[in-house]
Amino acid sequence: MAKLTFKENLCKGCGLCVGACPKNLLRLSTTRLNQKGYAPVELTDPDKCIACKSCATMCPDCVITIEK
Ligand code: SF4
Ligand code: SF4
Repeated sequence: MAKLTFKENLCKGCGLCVGACPKNLLRLSTTRLNQKGYAPVELTDPDKCIACKSCATMCPDCVITIEK
C-alpha cells in the first residue's frame, strides 16, 4: 500500500491534484482549514491508491510525497 504524506500547510486548495487522480481518491476538506486559510486536500481511501504519483506531479507546491 502506498503512503501519501501531505505538507498540509503548503496546500492552497487549488484542486489540481483532485482532478489528476485516476481513482478519484482526493478531495478538498469540507471541515478543516490550514494555516493559510485554505481547505487542504485529503485522501479519501488510502487502500485504493495505486501510487501513480499523478497527484504529486500535478501539485505546483510540492505538497504531496508518495512512498511505496
Ligand atoms: S498516487 Fe495516483 S492514485 Fe494515489 S492519490 Fe495520487 S493520483 Fe490518486
Ligand atoms: S495541487 Fe497541491 S496545492 Fe493544489 S489542492 Fe492539491 S495539494 Fe493542494
